[in-house]
Amino acid sequence: MNDYMVRGTAAGAHIRILAARSTLLVEKARQIHKTSPVVTAALGRLLTAGCLMGSFMKSEEDRLTLNIHGDGPVGAICVTADNKGHVKGFVGQTMVIIPANAKGKLDVAGAIGSGYLNVIRDTGLKEPYSSTVELISGEIAEDLTYYFASSEQIPSSVGLGVLMSKENTVAQAGGFIIQLMPGVSDDIITQLEDKLAKTPSVTQMLENGLTPEDMVKSLLTGLEPEILESSPVSFSCNCNEDTVKGALIAAGRRNLEEMIADNKDIEIKCRFCGHKYTFSPEELKTLTL
Ligand SMILES: [Zn+2]
Repeated sequence: MNDYMVRGTAAGAHIRILAARSTLLVEKARQIHKTSPVVTAALGRLLTAGCLMGSFMKSEEDRLTLNIHGDGPVGAICVTADNKGHVKGFVGQTMVIIPANAKGKLDVAGAIGSGYLNVIRDTGLKEPYSSTVELISGEIAEDLTYYFASSEQIPSSVGLGVLMSKENTVAQAGGFIIQLMPGVSDDIITQLEDKLAKTPSVTQMLENGLTPEDMVKSLLTGLEPEILESSPVSFSCNCNEDTVKGALIAAGRRNLEEMIADNKDIEIKCRFCGHKYTFSPEELKTLTL
């Protein structure tokens, strides 16, 4: 089954909803970064949020970046996404192993610790939009819910889940974002709150075989949900030799000159996808011209 997301509305467009299945892309991230289960869960949740939130951006060139900086063992998590369902990410520490939490689940909050969440939307303007909120739980979905309420003034409900198999591969991953649009009635809010209180977790829904469309219908039963569109999501990195050369030039002439003086091939690895680029001293010299 391919990964994809759906966009929908409910209650006469007073509610908007996004839901995704991201199992394959989170498994791909796990394979690239060789992450332990709890780190896979943390990165997978943020990658899924990236796909969903990226779709809110207007232009194909726009970039969304979600940064989590915590004082827990995983350190930082960085995810970037466009509005076409392409997402990529990396973590500070890939091999964190800590005990399960009180519920017997992977302790994502414990791996992240306290810190902050930073959301950047680069829409090609001089100053990208950037907003930082404190982490309120470290479980990521709740932190994003808090971000939407405090920074964007949009009442939201965010659900994110990654379930690992016994073999420590990704069995299920997915998520949803439900947002209330201006003018929504108290009656609809109460109905939605009741519904969400009874809803199983994202991983339970996926385990029960629900597709993203089914998740929308299940989350918004009785509120006349309508699916508007469906689109693929994937782990995808746009790095290439030119972007890496650009980064080398940006690192400064002195750095380059030191590398040239070493007179050895240098290998640069993309932080997001692990792709390796090799440059000879001759090639490095052309960058200083
Ligand atoms: Zn890359």
